[in-house]
Amino acid sequence: MSEEILITGGHVVTLDDALGDVPGGDVRVRDGVITQIGVGLRPGPDTEVVDAQGRLVIPGLIDTHRHVWQGAIAGFTPQMTGYGYGPAVLTGISLEHTAADLHAGTLWGALQALDAGITTIGDWAHALQSADHADANLRGLRESGIRGVFFYGGPGPADDDPNPPHPLDARRMRDEHFPGDGGTSDNGRLRMGMALRGPCFTSPERNRQDFAFARELGLPISIHVGMAGTADAVTALRRDGLLGPDVNYIHANQLTDEEMDLIAASGGTVTITPSTDMLMQFGTYPATGRALERDIVSGFGVDTVCSAGTDLFSEMRLALAAERSRANAEFLARNELVHEVALHQRDMLRLATLGGARVLGLADQTGSLTPGKQADITVVDLRSPHLDGFGDPVAMLGLGAGPADVETVLVGGEFAKRDGILVGPHAAKAQDLMHETQHRLRAAIH
Ligand SMILES: [Zn+2]
Repeated sequence: MSEEILITGGHVVTLDDALGDVPGGDVRVRDGVITQIGVGLRPGPDTEVVDAQGRLVIPGLIDTHRHVWQGAIAGFTPQMTGYGYGPAVLTGISLEHTAADLHAGTLWGALQALDAGITTIGDWAHALQSADHADANLRGLRESGIRGVFFYGGPGPADDDPNPPHPLDARRMRDEHFPGDGGTSDNGRLRMGMALRGPCFTSPERNRQDFAFARELGLPISIHVGMAGTADAVTALRRDGLLGPDVNYIHANQLTDEEMDLIAASGGTVTITPSTDMLMQFGTYPATGRALERDIVSGFGVDTVCSAGTDLFSEMRLALAAERSRANAEFLARNELVHEVALHQRDMLRLATLGGARVLGLADQTGSLTPGKQADITVVDLRSPHLDGFGDPVAMLGLGAGPADVETVLVGGEFAKRDGILVGPHAAKAQDLMHETQHRLRAAIH
């Protein structure tokens, strides 16, 4: 890593309220940390200069919920609902993954995220059949260089026990790999959390035990709630005295207003998953507006790579369209027309950056371009026909950007993508490993 990097002449969107946008701005990075943002900053003799004229410079995007291990099975279940996904994936192709396959899928899955400008990820790792699988999953994340939280899940319930305890191997993982306070890892970029089945997918008694186990280990909790076919999950947590600011609620789109209020009052966070909510019959409208109305700390999640895409540009676009549709339906029911609709593309970008950082408890490190934070930076080329617009460049980003427009990605000041190509130390071999896994999986399921 060059000691100093200077990104020059871009339209810098800091997402830091004190700094705002800096058109034609420069970002100075030293030893992996953002040190200065301004106009006309001078490079030193050894500074590596990255020309960002005609580009948008934004904080690295943050995906708060993704099953990263699915990197090798993209597009496997494009027409499946959540109901069909269980047998096809969770108790189907998931169980065909060897530890080596899980490593290959996770490494490639994390690189898919980096390629799309995502520098921090919440990896909801629920294909951990064994301790070897858990280690392989974590190794894939580490090798990718991405920042984030490794949420330790389990395999699904077996036929002979619908309510197995959360894997006790989580304790070993924490002790071996995340010895720091709050489950921080020795590489400094990853923390540990617990991906619990929660009240929707296990008995009340087992759920209480799982929550107690996570809290004994001192790790944050993430659970799927409030999607079609599940009900009263947050009500059950209140009954059992389990609500708290350490709980992240994924989907949440079918929760009642009272349950959303309970999340807000307890300081919990919501992960909004537009693609899977709408594509997989997890619900109707994503939780975006209902979470924002209550000031619930919220971010986006791509969630299920085998049914959704790999990028947050799509999630921002879908979330805004769905939320406006939800609001418009109320106006139209009253035969009322308005001049402007609520929420801007900037609101979506805030959810995809600073909001996500707060969901994962990493806002002190990332989520905005702020001097003192880690240099997690995404540079998007705006010079192509679909992005070279007249209006707010963030609106253009929201309307038309995709992973191919991401030119440069830095994580902690290290290049993960440069001139449109993934460049990390394991990037070259990752696609071959993923293809080998695909070959094995195809043979196993036929
Ligand atoms: Zn999920």
